[in-house]
Amino acid sequence: MERILLCKPRMSGHELDFIAPALAEDWAVPLGPDVTAFEKQLKDFTGAKEVVALSSGTAAIHLALIACGVMPGEEVLVQSFTFCASTNPITYLGATPVFVDSEAQSWNMDSELLEHAIHERIKITGHKPKAIIPVALYGMPYNIDRILAIAGKYDIPVIEDAAEGFGSRFNDKVLGTFGRYGVLSFNGNKMITTSGGGALLCRTPEAAKEIMWYATQARDSYPYYHHTAVGYNYRLSNISACIGRAQMGVLDRYLAHHRHVQELYTQLMADVHGIEIHQNPSAEYDSNFWLVTATLDPELRIVNQEKAYSNIVTGAVGGAAGVIRQVSSAVTDCQPNNNVEALRVALNNANIESRPLWKPMHRQPVFSHCPAYVNGVSESLFRVGICLPAGPYVTDEHVHYIVNAIKNSIIK
Ligand SMILES: *Cc1c(COP(=O)(O)O)cnc(C)c1O
Repeated sequence: MERILLCKPRMSGHELDFIAPALAEDWAVPLGPDVTAFEKQLKDFTGAKEVVALSSGTAAIHLALIACGVMPGEEVLVQSFTFCASTNPITYLGATPVFVDSEAQSWNMDSELLEHAIHERIKITGHKPKAIIPVALYGMPYNIDRILAIAGKYDIPVIEDAAEGFGSRFNDKVLGTFGRYGVLSFNGNKMITTSGGGALLCRTPEAAKEIMWYATQARDSYPYYHHTAVGYNYRLSNISACIGRAQMGVLDRYLAHHRHVQELYTQLMADVHGIEIHQNPSAEYDSNFWLVTATLDPELRIVNQEKAYSNIVTGAVGGAAGVIRQVSSAVTDCQPNNNVEALRVALNNANIESRPLWKPMHRQPVFSHCPAYVNGVSESLFRVGICLPAGPYVTDEHVHYIVNAIKNSIIK
């Protein structure tokens, strides 16, 4: 069988219908009619007032932070349990990430801890943090009602990192439309792809204009190039937007598919003791289930778990792009339990890609100097969790095969 990947991108079959005419009219520049048309589709789908298409989700976070006025030396509150792209742009600005741990139900930002962190930071630094970034982990919504209530109380803007949560809803409203800004990603492995790209959802035409200005080198209106601010080259290319236009045609189908795959895993795993598939915690939450995630009871025994971490991993686990720096030790002081690693290896041997949950940012050596408000939730989930394939190429037969592989790896 062909290798089953976590979330392999799938073209709709209509990409060329958009790309060919654009190329015929020489629209290979970052600004073109397809970017505008793609933004209109995103507006219609999300209900956002304004949408700016950008070169990546990371760029969207970077520009949202700039628009929130984040300056060097200032602080930004960010969910610790996330991918590094939520946090890195804070440091691009010379600001400091302040990590906030998660609640057990949604796995996302704990609102009580958030309020505690705000109090403490004001007490310690004399200043309010400049923004709050909750993250829709694996598509699961954050409790945005509670986060907005606290953000409102202290008048701190919320930047929603919905890069993994495109199409997820909280109280029937699309993620990304609650905060001052909402971040989407169209990277190769996300819910839909433009081969690489992102978008920022904005509240007002003025806000969108400001983002667009920064995204196109911050140029003032003179006949020559005149700059009053440092800008970026962050607009989406017109050709990428063509792919996005075609992908929007299959978005509803993909969303339904991811949710179906999650339900099927849940059903097939119902009689497996010691492994639980992560669920929407209550009726307000409606995850897109970008990836299906599961947690393993530490008592569960998996074949060869005594050999877990005995070899140094070479190459990337879980679809990472680019260069992975080779390390000299197979272990760190914060890693998934041996049974989780053994399950990953067992699935890998069955030609199934899986990977651990995101390692919390407050446990990353690169951020060890940053303040963190923790309750143990993200670190314990990291030790017991695993991501399973859920993309548009994953069929019912695949899910049956994966569940069988999981069952076969368990020592009874
Ligand atoms: C993918 C991702 C991003 C960044 O998006 P890119 O388009 O890859 O730059 C940001 N935050 C989270 C949580 C992500 O998963």
